[in-house]
Parts: sequence; C-alpha cells; structure tokens
Amino acid sequence: MQVLKFGGTSVANAENISKVISIVQAAAQKDTTVVVVSALGGVTDLLLNAAALAAEGNETYKEKLVTIEQRHMDAVKQLIPVASQSQLLSLVKKSCNEIEDICSGIFLLGELTARSRDRIGSYGEWLSSQIIAAAFRAQGTAAEWKDSRELITTNSAFTHAEVDFSVTNTKIAAFFTGDYSRLFILPGFIAADKNNITTTLGRGGSDYTAAILASALQADVLEIWTDVSGMMTADPRLTGNARIIPSITYQEAMELSHFGAKVIYPPTIQPVMNKGIPVWIKNTFAPQDPGTLIESSAARNGDIVRGISSINNIALLSLEGSGMVGIPGFSKRLFEALSSEKINVILITQSSSEHSICVAVDAASAARAKQAVDAAFANEIALQKVDPLLIESDLSIVALVGESMKSHPGISGRMFSAMGRNGVNVRAIAQGSSEKNISAVIATRDVRKAINVLHEEFFETTYKQVNLFIAGTGNVGAKLIGQLQQQAAVLSQRLRLQVRVAGLSNSRHRLIKEEGIDLGKWREELEAGQPADIDQFVSEAIARNLRNSIFVDVTANEKVASVYDKLLQKSISVVACNKIAASSAYENYQRLKELAGEFNSRFLFETNVGAGLPIIGTLNDLTHSGDRVRRIDAVLSGTLNFVFNHYDGSRPFAEVVRQAQDEGYTEPDPRLDLSGTDVMRKIMILAREAGENMEMEQITNNSFLPASCNEGSVEDFYKALAKEEPHFRALYEEAKAKGCILKFVACFDQGSASVGLRHIDPAHDLYHLYGKDNIVLFYTDRYTDQPMVVKGAGAGAAVTASGVFADIIRACKL
Ligand code: ADP
Ligand code: ASP
Ligand code: MG
Repeated sequence: MQVLKFGGTSVANAENISKVISIVQAAAQKDTTVVVVSALGGVTDLLLNAAALAAEGNETYKEKLVTIEQRHMDAVKQLIPVASQSQLLSLVKKSCNEIEDICSGIFLLGELTARSRDRIGSYGEWLSSQIIAAAFRAQGTAAEWKDSRELITTNSAFTHAEVDFSVTNTKIAAFFTGDYSRLFILPGFIAADKNNITTTLGRGGSDYTAAILASALQADVLEIWTDVSGMMTADPRLTGNARIIPSITYQEAMELSHFGAKVIYPPTIQPVMNKGIPVWIKNTFAPQDPGTLIESSAARNGDIVRGISSINNIALLSLEGSGMVGIPGFSKRLFEALSSEKINVILITQSSSEHSICVAVDAASAARAKQAVDAAFANEIALQKVDPLLIESDLSIVALVGESMKSHPGISGRMFSAMGRNGVNVRAIAQGSSEKNISAVIATRDVRKAINVLHEEFFETTYKQVNLFIAGTGNVGAKLIGQLQQQAAVLSQRLRLQVRVAGLSNSRHRLIKEEGIDLGKWREELEAGQPADIDQFVSEAIARNLRNSIFVDVTANEKVASVYDKLLQKSISVVACNKIAASSAYENYQRLKELAGEFNSRFLFETNVGAGLPIIGTLNDLTHSGDRVRRIDAVLSGTLNFVFNHYDGSRPFAEVVRQAQDEGYTEPDPRLDLSGTDVMRKIMILAREAGENMEMEQITNNSFLPASCNEGSVEDFYKALAKEEPHFRALYEEAKAKGCILKFVACFDQGSASVGLRHIDPAHDLYHLYGKDNIVLFYTDRYTDQPMVVKGAGAGAAVTASGVFADIIRACKL
C-alpha cells in the first residue's frame, strides 16, 4: 500500500495532470495506490478570494467564478474524450452554480461565516479529484473516486479542524478492506465533522489528508509530489543557493515546516512519524530526481545545520514590570490569558532577571492578545507593578534547524555574528534545550538578507554573494570594473565569492540593479540610468538591504566622502580610493573608524597612499603585532617623482607636468600634487595609522611651488608654471651641481611630519627611484638600523584599481 499526494501546481492544468497520470500508472503497477490531490493550482485562493469579495459587497467576485469555471472546463475538455465529457461538464457547471449561489448569499448578507468559507473552499479539491479520476479512466486505468469527507471526521469544525483519529482510522480501515480495486483517487484538504458538515484541514491541508490515510493504512510509503525536487536547505524563493536535502529526520522536517518551509504542511509529519512510515518529497516535473527522504534517522552528509526557514507576520508581546520579580504564577497567568483566546504561542523567552517575558505570536492575534493579557493583569497594571502588554509588529522569525547542532558548540555564535556583520538586529532569541532549533526574531525587511547570509554561513559549498555599489567611473573606476569582470571566474572558484556590481554612479548618472549590472555593457546601462544624485544613490543602496554590501568610492569628490558615516552605520563597508575622508579633521577620521568597529563594517583606504602598494596594510600589520613606528621616510608622490625624474632642463617643466597629467598620474587638479598638499595628506594618513593624532596644520610644507602658480583655473596654473620656468631650472641645476637629484620627500619623525624637496645623493636609499615609483621606509622598534621598505609604482589607474580590488576582497572576508 502506498499513498501519493499531488499538490496544486502538479494538477494545475491538463498538461500537468497528464504527467501525474504517468507517474501514478508506473507506481500503481507495483502496489495498491491511494492518490490524494489538491485543487487545480491557485483555485483555493480564487474561491476564498471570491467569497471575501462577496462579503465586502464587491461584485467582481463574479469574475473569479468565471475563471474558476473556465479552468475546470478546459481541464475536462483536454483530458476526456468528447464522447464522455458531458457528465463531467455538467458536474462542473452544477458545482459552479452552487458556488455562485453561496457567494450571492454571502453578498446579500455581507457576512462570511467560517462555515461558508470552508464550504466554498472545499469545491476545489472536490472537483479536481473527480476530473482526475475520470482522466485515469479515460486512459484505461481503473480508478475509484472516494469523497474524503466520508472517511475523515473531525472533532471541531472549520478552518483548522481537528481530526478525530479514532473515528477516522476506523472508517478508513473499514473502507479499504475487502475486495477493492487497486487505485483510489481522493480529494485532499476536505473533511466533515460529526454532523457531516463540510470542513477543511487548513491551508496546504492536502498533505495532511495524505498523511492521515497513510498512517491509518499503515502504508509502506507516503510520497508528496510537488513542484520542487525535495525539501531544500532554505526557501528557494528567498535564496538562489538553496539545495535539496537528500535525507532528513521527521523531527527536523517538522521543525522546518513549523518554521515556514511551505513544502509540507506542518501537521503532516506527526501521523506518519508515529508509525515510522517513510515520506518522500518528489518533483512531478522531474520525477527522475531523487527527492528528499524523511525518516527517523538521517545521514548527516557533512552539514551541521539541516535547513533554514522563516515565518513572517510575527508580533512580539512583552510583559514587563518590577512587580514580576520572584513572584510565581505570572507566566502561568500570561499563558492562560493567551490560551483562553486560543492564541498560538510560537516562541517564548524569559530573561533570568525575571522581569520580562516575551512571546512571539501571529500578528493577526496581537490585538486580541493585548486585550486578554491587559485584562488578566488589570490589577497589577493599576498598581504599576506591571506595564501594559507591549506589542511590536513587522517582525519575522528565522530559524536554524538540525539535530546535529546539539553536539557542535558555536553554532549560535556563528548564526548571530553572521547576521550582526550584516546589520541585522536580533529582537529575541530562543533555543529549545533539545537544540534542534535556534530561532531569532528580526525585522521582516531583513528576512531575505538574513536567510541568505545564514545560508552562506552554514552551507559552505555555496558562494558568498557580495554586492558592490561603486561611485566613480573615471580612470580608476573603469579599470576596476574591467578587473572585476576579468576575475569573476577566479573569485568564484578560488575564493567562493560571487561579486556583483549592484550599483554604479558617476557625475552624470546612477543605476541600481539588484541582479547585478552587466559588466560587459555597464556604460550603456549606466547611461540609461537615472540622473546622478549621490544622496539618493546611497539611500537606495541602504534601502535595498542586500547582504554583504560594500560601497566603493573611486572618486576624488568631497560630497561622496561625506556619505561614509551613513553607510558604515548600516553595516555597509566602505572602500575608498578617495583620500578626502581619511585626511579630513582627525575627529572625523576617528569617528569613521569607530563606526566601522561599532557596526561590524570595514573602512578601508589602502590606495590613499602609494596606490596599489601594500603600505597601510603593512603598517597595520606592524603595529597590530606590537611594533612601534619611530620614523617614516617616504617618496609618496608618483606625480612628483615622475616630474623630477623626467625634468632635466631639456623640456619645460610645465610640459613635463602636462605629460604626467595626460598619462593619468596626477590628481584631477595637478596643483594638489605640485604644491605638496597631496603628499601632506598621505604622510598624515600614515602618521594617523601609526597612532598619531595629527592634523594638516601640524605638518611643515617646504613647498617649491611659487605662490603665483596657485591661483585661478588649472589652465591658469599651466600658464603660471611656464612663466616660472627659470625657478624650476634653478632648482634642478643647484642639485645637479652637487651630484644630486631632486626628490619630494615626506618625513614623519618622533610625532612630527614635514614634506619638501630634497637633494638626494647616489648613496641615499631614495636615490634609485624611477618613473612614477613610490617608496616608504619604516623605521620601527623591530626594524631599527635597516628600515622595512615598500617600493614600486605609486600611481596609475591599473595599479590603483588593483589596490581597491584588494581592499574589496579584505572587506568580503569580514
Ligand atoms: P504544493 O502545491 O505541491 O503543495 P506548495 O506550494 O505548498 O506545493 O509547496 C512547495 C513550495 O514550497 C515550493 O515551490 C517552494 O517555493 C516552497 N518552499 C518554501 N520553503 C521550502 C523549502 N525549505 N524547501 C522546498 N520548498 C520550499
Ligand atoms: N488547496 C488547498 C490550499 O491551497 C490545500 C492544498 O493544496 O494542500 O491550501
Ligand atoms: Mg502544499
């Protein structure tokens, strides 16, 4: 004996029903088979919707009824040969007339009782099962239809009727004894109470019908045929990475379904578990897929957590007050008040200080709960020993489920830190002592993000998805996008990172695309985006609430540098090539660092000094390991190094500067480089990273740039530069006469910093520095006589982009 249940999508139309018929025909060759079916997919919703509209006095309920009739007529016409259609077509017509009559009654009364609601809801399964039974017969397979209402009897009636197992089991046993044919078709979801009034078993209840039959018949197997290839590690509608769970225990399946895994209706497991009947979840549209086996013990297959689920529409009720401490009976009274209103408690927590009890319930019952509880504690509330019940809504529960969790410490630690890193605030926590389930109450808007980060955390074979919001598409930005595109495969294979550019913005346009911008044609996509607005871009990036979000600033823009605090506070890391924030007032720099620490985000700016060279990272490694920086000597301007390496009096100084700008080695305004200001910013950032509280005003700048060059536009600057040629020539000749070359050197020593042009002789560490190279010499407690040296190209779009890229990967690893 075997029981097979087919869900709504599996029987949604004639084409799908034909698939069901082939599956059943193959199975029925082996054994007596009981088939339970749902209504044609979506029909239960249409029926209940029609009833609700009628009750509201809305005549559009009739349109729903037309659709319902049409769907069934179509199924009959496509499945049954014309010659034998008439009986079924009139059955459909007659039923639809009955539904219409009930609805018009509801419409006139303006009231929908639970009884009529269940009555209307029952037509879906009643019709689908008869059409399917006839379709079997039309194909020459003998199939006996039986009305489940004659077998399943309930104690209570309506909506979630409670089954009377002793009566039901007896009826089922009686019906299936004797000389019966080998294939039965029954409607799911519907039952009748002791007075023979039609009732239903709750939404999704066809699974339950099948389990009740399997249990009463002591079936060898129960198969739930649906539209996915098994129970999955998480709701596939919430995460693209969910995968099929090959086997799972009854307990785990029960927990997952209670906590929202819709693939099985929660009460389904109990009756089959008691009898040890194995349950398979199979896919009607991929019958060859193995599916999921639910049984009493299940192999662990490497995963500690079996699955993740969530329930929405949760309200959190908190009963608090100093009058609760140490007085027994408070929780009893709270739960009595809730149970008197038949309110189902989903989760409970109580802190050890005992002055607060917190329970999660379905949001729809929150108002009733408040009335009942406030009435039960009216006395204490009047005496101010207890506060009126506090209700918070728009909440959801996410739960990790797995029986192996109890033997593995640290699971909850990982759960909460993964959510914490993504700025998901946890409102309440519960872990049963059986440790099969750890649940957390969070804001509903965070559910998708939480499910995804938890899935990434616990099912490590999946990828970690990272969402980048990039501001700036100039030299560096464009190179960065190119590198991201080129490295996508390597990132996913080696680092298991799936890096998406979810947002792009430049001075003209902005674009946010959750599924990721096509890096092959980002220019066209961005061009078609909305007009630029950095504040809007940032607010949208925050509002999207995507997991592992990183904001990348590859501009040199002050406005962009001012948005970091908003992002860091939302646990969105900031990777900046833009130096403005790190070189702004110390207080601001420090605050950004603190925000990153407080909200589990990263504020990284390696490329602020020496482009892609590992200078800040090296300095951090030194200080974190307890070393102390005594002195830093450095050539930090790729631009100035390029300029002084190329200037030998044969070409005008202005021309050499122009070349540096054309080749992309200068700031957009080259005066920032020439005046030494950019070098001052860099040495200050290094001093700050070495632990010094330093401001720009404290740095001595021995500038070589005449004051006349500092006025007007960039073009005015070039003109002034040309006029001052003799000045630059003299600087060069003076050094040359001593056998030296010119280098613009930054120095940090014993807490003070200076920058300026120096004569460097051939024996000096800084002498052999070519092109646009930078060099940094760290003298520390550990590197006393010979400094630690970092040297290499210190400017250029490609190397800067690669430094930004490296910071992005560091931020991903958080
Ligand atoms: P049926 O109509 O066959 O009863 P349901 O719609 O009730 O099907 O349940 C199947 C759906 O459950 C799937 O299409 C899937 O979107 C959803 N679902 C939610 N959580 C899970 C999960 N953990 N595993 C598999 N499916 C899930
Ligand atoms: N048709 C019912 C519903 O949609 C029962 C079921 O499909 O399991 O809730
Ligand atoms: Mg279902």
